[in-house]
Amino acid sequence: MSDSSKFIADHVLNLPRSGIRDFFAIVSQMPQAISLGIGEPDFITPWHIREAAIFALEKGKTSYTDNMGLLSLRKEISKYVENFFSIPYDPKTEILVSVGVSEALDIALRALINPGDKILYHQPCFVSYSPSVTLAHGKTIAVPTYAEDAFSINPEALEQAWEPGCKVLLINFPTNPTGGVASRETIEKIAQFAIQKDLIVISDEIYSELTFEGDHTSIASIPGMRDRTIFLHGFSKAFAMTGFRVGYACAPAPLIEAMMKVHQYAMMCGPVVSQEAACEALKNGKESVSRMKEQYHKRRDFIVGRFNEMGLDCHLPKGTFYAFPSIQKTGLTEVEFAHQLLKDQEVAVVPGSAFGENGEGFIRASYSTSFEKLVEACNRMEAFVGQL
Ligand code: PMP
Repeated sequence: MSDSSKFIADHVLNLPRSGIRDFFAIVSQMPQAISLGIGEPDFITPWHIREAAIFALEKGKTSYTDNMGLLSLRKEISKYVENFFSIPYDPKTEILVSVGVSEALDIALRALINPGDKILYHQPCFVSYSPSVTLAHGKTIAVPTYAEDAFSINPEALEQAWEPGCKVLLINFPTNPTGGVASRETIEKIAQFAIQKDLIVISDEIYSELTFEGDHTSIASIPGMRDRTIFLHGFSKAFAMTGFRVGYACAPAPLIEAMMKVHQYAMMCGPVVSQEAACEALKNGKESVSRMKEQYHKRRDFIVGRFNEMGLDCHLPKGTFYAFPSIQKTGLTEVEFAHQLLKDQEVAVVPGSAFGENGEGFIRASYSTSFEKLVEACNRMEAFVGQL
C-alpha cells in the first residue's frame, strides 16, 4: 500500500483534528438527542432575505462579481458599519466581501504573517484561530481569560504574554465560546497596548449585534486604531445566514489591497446570489435581527438560571448564543461530562477544551435551539448532574 501521507506538508499533517468532529458524528446518529452543540442560529434566514436570493436567480444573476464584491453591497456595508460601529470606510477601496468571516480571517492572516511572526489571541476562542495561524506559518501565543472576569480580557495579561516578534493581536468580542464581552474601558486599554507594541489588530466582531448588556465598542473606532485594525464581520450570526457564506473585512486601503491579492487568486469572489441577499439583509433586516436577539436573550436568562440552580456555576454571558458553565464541581473532566451526558441523557454539549486548554473544566452549551428543547435539555442535564 502506498503511503500517500508522505506527500502532505508537515504543518498540515501535524494539525490536530478538531476534537468535536468524532463526537458530533455520534450525535448525528442519535435522533432523540437534543444538541446544544451547534454553533449556528436555529432560525431560518428571514424570508425577505431568502426572497432577495430567489429574485437574484430569477433575474439571471449567476456570474462572478468584482473581486472586491458587488459595489452595491460594499456601499450598504459602509453605511451599516458607520451607523452601527461609528467607523467610516470607503466602499471602493476599504471594504472586501469574503466567503464568510472564515475566509476573511484566513486572508487577513495570510496577508500579514511572515513565517515565524507571533500572533497573540485570547483563549478559550473559536476553534479556527490557532489552525488558521499555523496554516499561515505564524506562531500562536494564547492569553488565558477567566470565568471570574466573565471571560473578558485582562489587558495586563496581554502585557505579560507579549514577546518580541509579536505582530498581530486577534480579538473576538462577544466571544465564541464564552459569551465574554469587553467594556469600552477595556477596549481602550487594549488599544493603548496595541499602539505601544506597534501591533496590527484583527477584530472578529461577528457576534456584535448579539450583545445583551451594555454597548458594543469596536476597537477600530478608538482614536488611533483605524489604521492598525482589520475589522471582520459577516452575516452568519445576526442575520442567520450561515449557509450563504458572506462576510467582509474593512481596513485601510493598502491592507485591503494585500488581502485582495490572496482572495483574488484563492477565491475570485463571494457567491453573487448570497451577495444580493446580504444587500437586502443590510437594507431591511434590522427588525428580523431584533426579533431573533430577543429570543436569544430570553433563552440565555433561562439556561444560565437553570445551570446555576443545578450547581453548574455559570457566569452571565453578555453576548453571543453560548453559555459556558463550569463542570468542575462534578468531579468529571469536560470530555467525560460531555460523553456521559450524551450516553445517559442524549444531550450534546461541547467540551470546553475544544476551544483551547483554557477551556478545561467547562462546557459550551449553545442556546440557539427552541425554548421547548432547552427546557427539556435542562431537565435532562439536571437529572444527569443529580445522580453523579
Ligand atoms: N468567527 C467566530 C468567532 C465564529 O464563531 C464563527 C462561526 N462559528 C466564524 C468566525 C465564522 O463565521 P462565518 O460563517 O462567517 O465564516
